[in-house]
Amino acid sequence: MSDFNRQKIVDSVPQTGFFGHPRGLFTLFFTEFWERFSYYGMKAILVYYMYYSVSKGGLGIDQNTALAIASVYGSLVYMSGIIGGWISDRITGSSKAVFYGGILIMFGHIALAIPGSMTMFFVSMVLIVLGTGLLKPNISTVLGEMYDIKDARRDAAFSIFYMGVNLGAFVAPLIVGTVGMKYNFHLGFGIAAIGMFLALIVYMATKKKTLGLAGTFVANPLPQAEKKKAFTQIGLVAVIIAVLIAVAVSTGTLTIESFINLVGILGFVIPILYFLFMYRSPKTTKEERSRLIAYIPLFIASVMFWSIEEQGSTILANYADKRTQLDFAGMHISPAWFQSLNPLFIIVLAPVIGAIWVKLGDRQPNYAQKFSFGLLFAGLSFLVILLPAWMGGNNALVNPLWLVLSYLVVVIGELCLSPVGLSATTKLAPSAFSAQMMSLWFLSNAAAQALNAQVVKFYTPDNEMAYFGTIGGVSIILGFILYALAPKIQTFMKGIK
Ligand code: GLU
Ligand code: ASP
Repeated sequence: MSDFNRQKIVDSVPQTGFFGHPRGLFTLFFTEFWERFSYYGMKAILVYYMYYSVSKGGLGIDQNTALAIASVYGSLVYMSGIIGGWISDRITGSSKAVFYGGILIMFGHIALAIPGSMTMFFVSMVLIVLGTGLLKPNISTVLGEMYDIKDARRDAAFSIFYMGVNLGAFVAPLIVGTVGMKYNFHLGFGIAAIGMFLALIVYMATKKKTLGLAGTFVANPLPQAEKKKAFTQIGLVAVIIAVLIAVAVSTGTLTIESFINLVGILGFVIPILYFLFMYRSPKTTKEERSRLIAYIPLFIASVMFWSIEEQGSTILANYADKRTQLDFAGMHISPAWFQSLNPLFIIVLAPVIGAIWVKLGDRQPNYAQKFSFGLLFAGLSFLVILLPAWMGGNNALVNPLWLVLSYLVVVIGELCLSPVGLSATTKLAPSAFSAQMMSLWFLSNAAAQALNAQVVKFYTPDNEMAYFGTIGGVSIILGFILYALAPKIQTFMKGIK
């Protein structure tokens, strides 16, 4: 976007009104709060809904298949950010993309709220995948546009926004999880739909006044002449995909199994193509190419990290349900509540870790080193959960505090990697591809969950120690390698710190 337009947007946004920040920050905070509320609320009960028997209100899917489907789902949610980015960049602008995304998500949760069949379940998956792809990357873009590029409040704005994400993720399992597990899954999903609905109302009602022109420009609009051609092509591709799916399903080629494998491949092929495209583009300078090379080890580390973190809502959710003592300290714990621990620890510890970096000032670790801490803590969190089986065998139910500790440890790693990763991504991005780089960052999570869809199949309570030990061990080893490579990676960053 031109500097002129950028300035025009900033001038149109009321710059105060929310704790010294633009009032629009509240609009976006609130919207993202409810969007994440609906997403993580749904996720907190999703695996149980899939593998609980029909008599218990579930779909009765085989347990390991259910865990793999949840991973594929998570992977697609982040992969679709590429489509969302493209639509916003070339057709709608980011603000409209956020709105349409919200509508699709809401209908996705409504589809789940209707007691029904497997078909409804897959319809909802498609809606939520596309909706989140439209909303999630674009809402951050709107946020970024509200502030002048040199505005000192920028970083703080993203931190406040990150709190909104985790506040939503924290509350949701307690509400959606409790209702879903105790009364009825569909009622739970219904609450998630209401959350998304509230976000849409507030977004619509306040956006004109608070967001000004932020999110209204189309960065690289499709010329009118090309528009028709593009729409025809998109329509054609959609029809071809639909026909292929119909043929594949009816001939038995497309099974859940083969779909999981397909996503497994896409999860890695797409980021590689993306990367090559940026690297080889004539718009990328020599220095920027070097930075892209520096990004590769960070990307790989990020995949490893999210692989473990995201298993918190699949493998560990299953562990909470099957292996954990849920009658504890005089109360009955819902397995869904464990999903609130990660965001709770994020909210509590984010300021602490932030303060440590500030205190260390120039002596603070560089990007690669912080990422290596991320891997180390992620690995340790899996070793923690291996201990109860090692000490007490895998027949007895485990004290829930082990799970709490595991979630705590992974969050320390998350805070070394996740906010840092976003900032590294924006700084290492070639200037022609800043939006694409943001998508690439989310693709690391997509790749991680695509990998998880393959990996979770190996989990059984009988081989639990080997499972957690191997994955945790690999993460720790990668952490050490990354730490050793850190000085070299730094030289490839060409002055970026
Ligand atoms: N858990 C965070 C969110 O949902 C970050 C996910 C990621 O960066 O992959 O916003
Ligand atoms: N920590 C995740 C994120 O930042 C939320 C979660 O896993 O519940 O949104």
